[in-house]
Amino acid sequence: MRRRDFLRASGQAGLSLALAQWSGCSQPQEVSSPSPVADGYHYQVGPWTGDSFPAMHKIRDGFHAPLPKPERKVKLLIIGAGLSGMGLGYLCRDMDLLILERESTAGGNAKSANYKGIEYALGSAYLVDVDKPFGELYRELGLDLTPISQPGESVWTPGGFVPLEKGPLAKTIERIQKEMRVLLTGDGYPTIPIQKAGAKALALDDISYYDWLQKDYPDYVPQADEYCWTALGGDSRKISAYIGVSGLSELVMDIYAFPGGNAAVAKRLEAGIEKAGSGRIMNGQSVYRVDPAGAKVRVGFFDTHAENPELRCIEADQVVLACPYYFAARLIPWAQQQALTTMRSLEYGSYLVANLCFEGQVFHQGYDHWAPGNNQWADFVDADYPTGNQIKDASVITVYAPFREAMVGRALLLQGDGRALCSKIVEDVQLRTGFPKDKLREVNLTRYGHQIFCSRRGVVRQMLALPRHHGNVHLCHSDGQACASIESALSEAFALAPVLHKKIRA
Ligand SMILES: Cc1cc2nc3c(=O)[nH]c(=O)nc-3n(C[C@H](O)[C@H](O)[C@H](O)COP(=O)(O)OP(=O)(O)OC[C@H]3O[C@@H](n4cnc5c(N)ncnc54)[C@H](O)[C@@H]3O)c2cc1C
Repeated sequence: MRRRDFLRASGQAGLSLALAQWSGCSQPQEVSSPSPVADGYHYQVGPWTGDSFPAMHKIRDGFHAPLPKPERKVKLLIIGAGLSGMGLGYLCRDMDLLILERESTAGGNAKSANYKGIEYALGSAYLVDVDKPFGELYRELGLDLTPISQPGESVWTPGGFVPLEKGPLAKTIERIQKEMRVLLTGDGYPTIPIQKAGAKALALDDISYYDWLQKDYPDYVPQADEYCWTALGGDSRKISAYIGVSGLSELVMDIYAFPGGNAAVAKRLEAGIEKAGSGRIMNGQSVYRVDPAGAKVRVGFFDTHAENPELRCIEADQVVLACPYYFAARLIPWAQQQALTTMRSLEYGSYLVANLCFEGQVFHQGYDHWAPGNNQWADFVDADYPTGNQIKDASVITVYAPFREAMVGRALLLQGDGRALCSKIVEDVQLRTGFPKDKLREVNLTRYGHQIFCSRRGVVRQMLALPRHHGNVHLCHSDGQACASIESALSEAFALAPVLHKKIRA
């Protein structure tokens, strides 16, 4: 069933049923909000942050109008101010450059907010690879690359949370670590960027992560499934072993997290671009069309939040689509059909992030926490852990809750009943952490309609074969690396920057 047909078919009753199924209830339940003071809770649900659906849906539904006369000319125009678009903008900041961003703030999936001095992530939280060229960039941006202190990860047991490496999977993890250390030093390691992969590593893309784990580590599957859901858009049966095994490097490498998560990187990139020339990122502007015009390219856009927006146009020498591929394909319908077919065939998960904001410190037992098999959330992080929990009178838990059925998730997010969506998550986290209910003050929700790229089996080879350059229009988005990660976004920027320098200087 196509998404629009599904939405049309699902009335309130259908959505209630979907919500009940997602919540693990056997009977359909009301979607209406429980009382804010029910069961000892007193929390407020804040206004939604995340995707602005109406503008995206307008373009998705075939919005098309002739491009007006260009109001301005630039050498380089980038569509999307996420980590890939801003990474590229930063590397090309010496050029005549403009970035158009749909949302009111830059950052894409790497944004943050603040609660009583604690900067917390609305999406992307931590990073792993600080080797060249990533580490050099982070240092240049002035970020402190001290690994987070142990325990980095912990897992739920009936006795409470214990460090992952000391939990029930301790022996298996030890064996995986041994294998990963060997892999990391040879040509069988599945690298990001995928362009550097050897034939042995690429062969991993032909099997599922589940099949790879089944051979030697079958008991690790439930833990791997949670990781796959939170980071890769499906369970291990669906995910490419190339991407799954690449993620296992976290078991042998340090984890780095800044206050506010990877938004700290996005903010520094933004500041670097602005420092080189102010006003070069235009937020709140949705691009609806990108057309070749002789040797130039014209880009049509409108104000994301205006009711009857004026259509505008800018002409550029080179244009970069730094937005998700499924969406980029809509903007360039004139491009090579085979490439468009691949881009349209990609799958994306839907996602809810719930930030639980407390009075006082309520839970302080490490950074990232897992409870495999619970149906409400995949993992949660202690937002102030990177600073050593310096703030004493407040704390924030960031809960990652990808939907297991992407289409159901999208319908629920569109319906937008925040309290119904978060109440079961809150209850489950409370049961496991034992936080005092009356200390929970706010729950702030962020919605992602199509944001977790599904790293399904075979997608690495697909992305390697996909043409990146369509005349003077280029693709530069984490999707091109077959998985959603900061390293994917920045790898794309590092690869495209020298190409643009050559073209624009020529
Ligand atoms: C909830 C969540 C948690 C994550 N956690 C981690 C993590 O801990 N570690 C990690 O490494 N990775 C994580 N990721 C993945 C990582 O954050 C992303 O892969 C990365 O931020 C993507 O950056 P990007 O620039 O490629 O894409 P995006 O962030 O998707 O940026 C694309 C930008 O383009 C804009 N745009 C789209 N269409 C248009 C248009 N028509 N006109 C104008 N602008 C447009 C969008 O608004 C957006 O700002 C997470 C992702 C999510 C969703």
